[in-house]
Amino acid sequence: MVKKIEIAVFSGDGIGPEITDPTVKILQNLSDRASSYALTFTDAPAGAAHYQKTGESLPAASLEAARRADAILLSAMGLPNVRYPDGTEISPQIELRKLLTLFAGLRPVTVRADQKTPLNIPEGKEIDFVLVRESTEGLFHTQGCGEVTDNEARETLLITRDISEKLFRFTFDLAHQRKKSGRGPGRVTCVDKANVFRAFAFFREMFNAEAAKHPSLTADHAYVDATALWMVQKPWDFDVLVTENMFGDILSDLGAGLMGGLGLAPSADIGLEHAVFQPCHGSAPDIAGQGIANPFAMILSAAMMLDWLGLQNNNSEMRADGERLREAVENVVASGRVLTQDLGGTAGTQEAAAAVEAQLHREES
Ligand code: NAD
Repeated sequence: MVKKIEIAVFSGDGIGPEITDPTVKILQNLSDRASSYALTFTDAPAGAAHYQKTGESLPAASLEAARRADAILLSAMGLPNVRYPDGTEISPQIELRKLLTLFAGLRPVTVRADQKTPLNIPEGKEIDFVLVRESTEGLFHTQGCGEVTDNEARETLLITRDISEKLFRFTFDLAHQRKKSGRGPGRVTCVDKANVFRAFAFFREMFNAEAAKHPSLTADHAYVDATALWMVQKPWDFDVLVTENMFGDILSDLGAGLMGGLGLAPSADIGLEHAVFQPCHGSAPDIAGQGIANPFAMILSAAMMLDWLGLQNNNSEMRADGERLREAVENVVASGRVLTQDLGGTAGTQEAAAAVEAQLHREES
């Protein structure tokens, strides 16, 4: 039986539509060749340009499409010069995390031996770890409603038992899956600041309670400052890291830096019922409309989506296609032949995406 899968597509602002278009085409081609699943795509308008046009940043119909869909593919939203009257930016991608309770933000960091990176990676080592960023609370709890007076500003950090327990359960499950597929030793590190803040001691206590249920995995702790240092000094030692929202926000950009830039950094925001897949970068208004945006992070996010959908629906073909798509991007990047300007090459968006398609077909034959 063919499993029908509906994807809500937020093509967003700036370079968003330019990188969404080839990504959806690649997904459509994979779906056309698949025997056990069929993807359909629903356009979901939202974002800063939509707000400028209509006064709405996340229309009810788009939110409904997101709720109804099996998965959500999102490029980037927001434009620095389009703001709400209170001065904050239009960011429906952050609202979606809260509205759909997408508590687990996955930020994979992978650097193969043949890939360019600012680090000197010792012989025989590769970087392959996942940062799990809690994405609904932490220091983003008072986002947009912090108190500011003439002399003081206050924001509140919130850590709840409910979300933390879900987060840690998800994280340990992920470590099991990675270990099973040969991608990690089965090690989970809780990244916090439990030496200074009671909230993080609470976070750590719940982590330890979940860790006790997984004797076949290794669980340990690291302070966030030391983690930043080790991500530069010995990132090949990490497997799965789990942390609070703001710490995760900062460390995930450091992870993107290790991979050679934001143009190669995919992400997923996952909850119990919904999931959004999107590149880590923003709408890059400085290069929008020129056809030179790097589509790789978006395509890698689509690969994560197929992998997650495959797991959710117990469909091995979707999982295999996700894996093939990720490998196709990694092979194109490693070969260095077709790179966009941000990676030191000269290729445009369409050419880079076409190279991934060609690589996929090469692997098929
Ligand atoms: P940005 O990630 O858009 O751009 C930072 C730099 O990286 C720019 O020089 C840009 O040209 C480059 N860059 C980013 N993606 C690229 C790609 N795919 N190919 C080639 N170069 C790329 O960050 P910013 O400039 O701080 O933000 C621009 C807008 O995007 C802002 O309105 C911001 O709020 C929004 N934003 C959205 C998201 C999201 O939707 N998840 C994330 C971050 C920023």
